[in-house]
Amino acid sequence: PPVDFAKEESRQAMEAALQKVREQLGKHQRLVIGEEHHDTQEKLTSIDPSQKDRVVGTTASATAEQAEQAVAIAKAALGKWAATSVEERADYLRRAAQAMRDQFFDLAALEVYECGKPWREATGDICEAIDFCEYYAAAAIDLMGGSPTGSEAAIEDDARNFDAPGEDNRLTYLPRGVAAVIAPWNFPLAILTGMTTAALATGNTVIMKPAEQSPIIAARLMEIFIEIGLPPGVVNYLPGRGETVGAALVEHPDVALIAFTGSRPVGLAINRTAAEVSASSNNMVKRVIAEMGGKNAIIVDSDADLDEAVAGVVKSAFGYSGQKCSACSRAIVLDSVYDQFLDRLVEAARSLPVGPADDPKTIVGPVIDSQSFDRIQSYIEVGRQEGREVLAADVGLLAKQGYFIGPHIFVDVSPNARIAQEEIFGPMLAVIHAADLDEALDIANATDYALTGGLFSRSPAHIDRGMVEYRVGNLYVNRNITGALVGRQPFGGFRMSGIGSKAGGPDYLLQFVVPRTITENTMRRGFAPPELES
Ligand code: NAD
Repeated sequence: PPVDFAKEESRQAMEAALQKVREQLGKHQRLVIGEEHHDTQEKLTSIDPSQKDRVVGTTASATAEQAEQAVAIAKAALGKWAATSVEERADYLRRAAQAMRDQFFDLAALEVYECGKPWREATGDICEAIDFCEYYAAAAIDLMGGSPTGSEAAIEDDARNFDAPGEDNRLTYLPRGVAAVIAPWNFPLAILTGMTTAALATGNTVIMKPAEQSPIIAARLMEIFIEIGLPPGVVNYLPGRGETVGAALVEHPDVALIAFTGSRPVGLAINRTAAEVSASSNNMVKRVIAEMGGKNAIIVDSDADLDEAVAGVVKSAFGYSGQKCSACSRAIVLDSVYDQFLDRLVEAARSLPVGPADDPKTIVGPVIDSQSFDRIQSYIEVGRQEGREVLAADVGLLAKQGYFIGPHIFVDVSPNARIAQEEIFGPMLAVIHAADLDEALDIANATDYALTGGLFSRSPAHIDRGMVEYRVGNLYVNRNITGALVGRQPFGGFRMSGIGSKAGGPDYLLQFVVPRTITENTMRRGFAPPELES
């Protein structure tokens, strides 16, 4: 469950962990390939976005040759791991979940420093990582046993009753092989853990390639896998540059599956490369799961409860500084409530405390790095051309210390404006007029993406229409649009938001396996003589 910071013991645990972790920052992490730890000449330096001069840690930066080595090791480990029973594999995942519970606040504290996640965001990410371990452990047991088809499964009066006496049929699943897991920094433990454990539970071996901005929390995950006794080579840790080690993994003919979460350009490039490599190989067609960006909207209907709508938009737009794929970056507001909603929205957003992520009162922390900072600043300039700036929260002296940008709101934005169409990934919201629900739904659907969306309305007829016509992967009615929970809100989008089925949902594991049907003729004609039985 989420941590309740209203309880004193939770606050004390977090404070203590922050102090402990802060004192231990700055260590160096090497690559892990099988049983060996390797160092490299080039290093990655992970810094605290709340305080630019604080080094969270350094890591080796894997080369293309090391990617090659890791794939060979993962391939060698595959046979034994795939033959390990699914119950045993699930047990490793549950032990990993327990290890995360045991060091819960230390992991969260590390994310506070490495990714600028405020307390609730950081602890939420650890909860989600634990949920993924537990969920995929159970889901793999359900899936991997396979299921009878034809006779046993058939219902008597069902048209699909293909019962054949004297024949047993079974649908089963095999692991795909070596999986490259390429992860983003914004849910640095949860997403990396989710993709990795899904691959492991289904019998694949894994090479983890964390984002350049969050390799230290990923190193902790690798340590957990070692601590729980996962056989060497089953998971390998390969931090490094996306364009070098990431690309080398994608291109490798022995990588059967690429589980990627990140930006649209990189996801599409991976999909293209995987197809090209598959075309020139006689080995396999690579499977790509690519979860990508969003340009998510919340519609505020004329009869919406504005107290709820303001709170929902503010939380969705500015939580973790808008750096969630699910974040709201467009509010589409019906004319009849436009002015009233805006007045409240602006004041609510203005009141959000901006500050370093380790300060418990912070809601809006820093953005991840200098590149993000520059990109968002340039979009703010664009916003000034494309709309009316009604909020540009000043961050004062914090600007010297870290990558801080306060909440920004632009109103009267055209639905086709760049700030209404391009994923910005920062604390910036475009507010758009709509005459009625028809127009609001048209605007909401008119982007390249289809990830999350929200509707605040008190009209049952409008809610029904939203449920049918609002084309997004995760639709939220009368609540905020971020914070999907594993199992409860299986998560992921379509169109340019991704190819893949719903992390934390019942179909997710199917992408990590190949289906196989086994048919046995059970009408034996005689028996083998005993001397031939071994
Ligand atoms: P990114 O695409 O820059 O990087 C993601 C990963 O890809 C990193 O590990 C990076 O090193 C690697 N990479 C970069 N170039 C590569 C290449 N040529 N070949 C192989 N790998 C390469 O994304 P990011 O900035 O880390 O994350 C933010 C993005 O992720 C946003 O667009 C956000 O919407 C998206 N996201 C989507 C979801 C989802 O579930 N749909 C979840 C979280 C984040």
